[in-house]
Amino acid sequence: MTTKPSKAIQVDPWDYFLDEDSPAQEHVEMFREIYWPHIRRELRTELGYELGEGQEPHWVEAGRAVLYHQTTVSDYGRVTDFGFGPTNPLPVGNAVQLHNYLKKGFRLRANVEPLANVESSETADSTEGDAWENAPYVVSAARAPRKFISWEAYRMYCQNRGVPLAYDPPQEVLDRMKNFKYYCLVHDHGFKAKRDAHQHRSYYIADPPTGRGQRHATIEDMEVKIPKQTTNKTTKKTKVT
Ligand SMILES: [Zn+2]
Repeated sequence: MTTKPSKAIQVDPWDYFLDEDSPAQEHVEMFREIYWPHIRRELRTELGYELGEGQEPHWVEAGRAVLYHQTTVSDYGRVTDFGFGPTNPLPVGNAVQLHNYLKKGFRLRANVEPLANVESSETADSTEGDAWENAPYVVSAARAPRKFISWEAYRMYCQNRGVPLAYDPPQEVLDRMKNFKYYCLVHDHGFKAKRDAHQHRSYYIADPPTGRGQRHATIEDMEVKIPKQTTNKTTKKTKVT
């Protein structure tokens, strides 16, 4: 019998979505220590689902974690597949809850199936080369800054964490924005009518289950303002008295 030389797949550490100064930190640590091994075991023995070595959800609260699911956006009948993207924090308080998500195709990490053995990278930037060093998008965090090479990854991170975008979007996004009256940079979605932008925002700010219960840029913020070419200065009429 031959054992395959398996090179462990590198994944983001479990606390990728947890702020170091989060008030939930202590509860989460406790949950990991006491309940997580129990959940793993129950998954295996009761539900016949053996998670790969090193697989662990991205906990954000005790019993709540960010998972990944395949994101497809249907835009006027045109479906775009964005691959696996992070979810909002989901209840993962016991083996049955987690199993239900896994059965539906959710993952614990975007880049790997839940059954594969993985190795957690404590600091993602240590394994990367120059591209990482010069990453254009950086979000400061308590332990180490989070770096993003692509706008898309940066945008997704901010979307998920409720971090306001701090960088200007790349030219391709700016070009796309010109076709719309309103544009949500966080969700990368343009709107021709104010009504549609309003509807989009309403969904995100509404309490679950109707909406997502998140903060969201205002309609005013989403208004696309193309800087006017000021070729001729506006001559203000001076009031003649
Ligand atoms: Zn939005």
